[in-house]
Amino acid sequence: MQQAKTVDTVIVGSGFSGLCLAIRLKTAGYGDLVILEAAAELGGTWRDNTYPGCACDIPSHLYCFSFFPNPDWSRKYSGHAEIQAYLKACAKHFGLGPHFRFNRRVDTAVWDEGAGRWEVRTRSGEVYRARFLATGTGGLSQPNIPEIAGKADFAGPKFHSQRWDHRVELRGKRLAIIGTGASAVQIVPAVVDQVAQLNLFQRTPPWVLPRQDRAYRPAEKRRFRKWEAWRRLYRHWLYWKAEARFLGFRDLKFVGRLAEGIGRRHLRRSIPDVDLQRALTPDYRLGCKRGLLSDDYYPALARENAGLVTSGIDRITAEGILTQDGKHHPADVLVFATGFKAVEYLSQIRIVGRSGRVLNEAWADSGGEAYLGTTVHGFPNLFLLTGPNSGLGHNSLIHIIESQANYVLDAVRQLPVEGDWAEVRAEIQADYNQKIQAQLARTVWQMGGCRSWYQMESGKNTALLPTWTFVYRRQTNHFRATDYRVESR
Ligand code: NAP
Repeated sequence: MQQAKTVDTVIVGSGFSGLCLAIRLKTAGYGDLVILEAAAELGGTWRDNTYPGCACDIPSHLYCFSFFPNPDWSRKYSGHAEIQAYLKACAKHFGLGPHFRFNRRVDTAVWDEGAGRWEVRTRSGEVYRARFLATGTGGLSQPNIPEIAGKADFAGPKFHSQRWDHRVELRGKRLAIIGTGASAVQIVPAVVDQVAQLNLFQRTPPWVLPRQDRAYRPAEKRRFRKWEAWRRLYRHWLYWKAEARFLGFRDLKFVGRLAEGIGRRHLRRSIPDVDLQRALTPDYRLGCKRGLLSDDYYPALARENAGLVTSGIDRITAEGILTQDGKHHPADVLVFATGFKAVEYLSQIRIVGRSGRVLNEAWADSGGEAYLGTTVHGFPNLFLLTGPNSGLGHNSLIHIIESQANYVLDAVRQLPVEGDWAEVRAEIQADYNQKIQAQLARTVWQMGGCRSWYQMESGKNTALLPTWTFVYRRQTNHFRATDYRVESR
């Protein structure tokens, strides 16, 4: 075993949330930190997802840090490579280079109450002793490949959308894609021209609204560069437009119905075939599952070489997919666009808190529960970035990430002395979660007539924040010590 290294803060993960916290701490003078990253480079989601068509469905001027704007975004909705380049530029600008430890997968983190430190161990045998531990591992990082009979029998290449195998030549091949979520909707139009035949296996049709993506003109970029106030105003406009969606998801059901009308018209205009239209029409409320934006998904499905398969999958065979109606659909390449194990959040790391309490065991029945999606009773000085019920169904997650980073920074400020620790009070956490679940019960995510990755098997929603993001910003502006048991060694 290697000798333990002592640092103030260990951050796990180098995606948007890990970087955000590192920058906030460093620029505030708390730069004694390391960022442990399992992969060989930074980036999280935008490093891992490289499938054809991969882009963000939140406008780029909003899907970036408020403190590191980029006037040069090429398009309204940027592709993964541009976002990844932005993250690298950001890390460079803030001098994060010396803080990264790549190829360090964290296996365990154990709270040492005597010392008031977390002992963090990596698979490569390193040990870090840190006063503060923050996890920025993301809720959508573990691919979900469903247990479909015969999966191992398939003779051709097969991979998950997040592990796209770019060595596989698609040209002239018969491609089968399972799943019709946000990833599939981007993959289908990006590859339909290359393949001989594309069969898309749909279990539930998504709501798809017009995307209206476009490149920014050089004059617009110049304006963003020259007039900072103009760029800010634009960001505000994008923020409030996205925030307004929440009205449709909770309070004003008719706003949701109006948006559904837009979705239906979008479908009718893109797909002349009435049977295909019917097969693509959702039977649940818009927003219940994440609403998707695309101008080319429906037209791609209307192509001659594209087929939508709605009969359930019976099994995968060596040469394709057999559906429950007895039809065999031959395929040379198989793609699982089947999403992520979102409810198994943090299951890869064994986190042991006070009195030997294991985080995943504490969550086994209730699902993920935290206070403000960030701190957990029994786990002092541990901060979860984008933790339980801090995901969004209506706005940019970067707003949440920045709120959480503010909160952690304030906590660090309020615990200045070696050995100080804070543990959220059990009743505060319970009360917060009760309110969250009561608020969720009134939203489309719970009432919209669908099952989604936002929910556990029991139906409990452990993913989404059921309130306005500006309310959450206010709640996380200050670390309120009275919500915590604060101890000094
Ligand atoms: P997803 O939305 O969870 O979609 C998974 C798809 O696989 C669904 O259509 C699901 O059908 C289907 N599926 C799962 N298990 C299946 C099975 N056993 N048999 C048949 N079909 C099955 O996953 P995703 O598309 O990867 O997107 C996940 C999330 O990532 C999104 O909601 C979004 O938050 C994020 N994302 C964002 C962007 C972006 O532009 N910002 C892009 C991609 C992803 P059912 O609906 O019937 O369950």
